[in-house]
Amino acid sequence: MSVEGLCQICERNPIDEGCTRCGQLVCSDHYHDTRGWCTECVAEVGDWPEDDQPEPGDHPDGVDEYQF
Ligand SMILES: [Zn+2]
Ligand SMILES: [Zn+2]
Repeated sequence: MSVEGLCQICERNPIDEGCTRCGQLVCSDHYHDTRGWCTECVAEVGDWPEDDQPEPGDHPDGVDEYQF
């Protein structure tokens, strides 16, 4: 896939991906692979840990446990 132009955030690096949230075209430095978002969207939401790890103590799948 070839997209011509420069990253809309830094305007220095060639475009690598498009953000699936805001549609901004960004370079690999400004693209969050895990989320498919640009770093601006990630910063806007703001509460994701760097490694995208679940917090200790959380249920891994977020599934409620039912006891019968
Ligand atoms: Zn960039
Ligand atoms: Zn974005």
